[in-house]
Amino acid sequence: MTDLYIGGTWTKPADGGQRRIHSPADGSLVTTVAEATATDTVAAIRAARHAFDHGPWPATPARERGALLHRVADLLERDRDAFARAESGDTGKRLVESEYDVDDCVACLRHFAGAAGTDAGRVVDTGRDDAISRIVHEPVGVCGLITPWNYPLLQATWKVAPALAAGDTFVLKPSELTPSTAILLMRALEEAGLPAGVANLVLGAGASAGAPLAEHPDVDLVSFTGGLETGRRIMAAASATVKRVALELGGKNPNIVFADADFETAVDFALTAVFLHSGQVCSAGARLLVEDPLHDAFVDELVRRAALIRPGGPFDPEAHTGPLISAAHLAKVEEYVAAGLAEGAVLRCGGERLTGPGFDRGFFYRPTVLDECKQGMRVVREESFGPVLTVERFSGEDEAVRLANDTEYGLAGAVWTQDAGRAQRVAGRLRAGTVWINDYHPYVPQAEWGGFKQSGIGRELGPTGLDEYREIKHVWQNTRPRPQRWFPAN
Ligand code: NAD
Repeated sequence: MTDLYIGGTWTKPADGGQRRIHSPADGSLVTTVAEATATDTVAAIRAARHAFDHGPWPATPARERGALLHRVADLLERDRDAFARAESGDTGKRLVESEYDVDDCVACLRHFAGAAGTDAGRVVDTGRDDAISRIVHEPVGVCGLITPWNYPLLQATWKVAPALAAGDTFVLKPSELTPSTAILLMRALEEAGLPAGVANLVLGAGASAGAPLAEHPDVDLVSFTGGLETGRRIMAAASATVKRVALELGGKNPNIVFADADFETAVDFALTAVFLHSGQVCSAGARLLVEDPLHDAFVDELVRRAALIRPGGPFDPEAHTGPLISAAHLAKVEEYVAAGLAEGAVLRCGGERLTGPGFDRGFFYRPTVLDECKQGMRVVREESFGPVLTVERFSGEDEAVRLANDTEYGLAGAVWTQDAGRAQRVAGRLRAGTVWINDYHPYVPQAEWGGFKQSGIGRELGPTGLDEYREIKHVWQNTRPRPQRWFPAN
């Protein structure tokens, strides 16, 4: 059994709790890990607090912190296969996808390693010859990092790398469903020489092991990636101590295809946009908006290709996509499709779980296309987080933008057209944190990631992603101090 990592020591949970992790592809036992309670999480917070207040890390020169992140990146490269296999074991995602994820984590670590030593703050013009004013960045303190199950290593790295670059200490709480790569990441940090107490890992359920990270007064920032409802709860809990909150929540992202789009490329990407990782992607292009004249031909071809997608286990080289994460999630996806059909959507393909040898012990759902959808439908408005594409028609730019923006979310979206002017106009009008033009899904650690509206607060990655983990301090120095005599001396 793997224990919790608290204060630089692998530690048993106070009440001896355990959790078994099973593969969502075939139900086999993947690993057994410690299950923390709030008591353990508070111990981890205390360790992080002590390391921040009394340890060497916050005052370590930024370039040395960056060098450590490079060493961690080296270890991920060395152990790429172990990381990828562990990720696929927990999540059921195809091995090749997990390998891409590890590579993305290496890029993220190296990005923040480089960013760490490059910012010396700025000097401000005081308008006086007897004063110097400087803006400096300092670490924010103890960070509570809470991550979901769909990209476990990636989401953890997006938080851990900037936190360490900034000089913070942290407690990481990965999803209780997918702890394995967070454990490997802690081992890599340990091997890279991170001082004890800087990185702490608690494993377990959100309501018990996670909640103190939003509530405890010794946590300065809670950075959360996950569902909207949990995000609301965390924001409310954090308000009691007015801690900083960073939220990366869900999306219901529009993929807009104009009639002049390159047909072959747009169809191909419409599939990847929504069916990658069985739709369990926050930025999935789950709402396809197709311009009227193109609609029939486009959807026919999309449906034909969706039916060719072969689900299978993570280590099956023939499989194109994997299972959903859990029985509960599969049931939720089924419920959304049923609700869509009850509200008048037309089922064009999929719409059922997979059964039979190779599927019965896992949580597989067929890639599903629901045509003739309308904005009011639940399956259009809420995040199913499964391989379910809703299709709506539109006519002209204004209607495309109106439909695309008619959502409480605002994470991402895409526009497909060969008209460069229209591409820019629509991109400018979409209320979303990321807009792709004639593409879908790419991101780089140099560019900010995050949501408008209820998709979140703040940004990860890019310069702003580092700022999330830093306080800004204004330092003023009077170089010729003398009495001011605002009040009389006698
Ligand atoms: P979730 O909200 O159920 O859980 C996320 C994490 O929060 C888990 O670690 C969970 O244990 C923890 N948690 C739950 N209740 C808690 C509480 N009361 N206090 C503290 N922690 C608590 O989300 P999920 O099902 O794991 O992930 C799927 C969701 O994540 C989707 O909505 C998806 O859109 C979102 N997501 C967003 C992004 C993004 O970048 N915006 C990226 C990936 C996933």
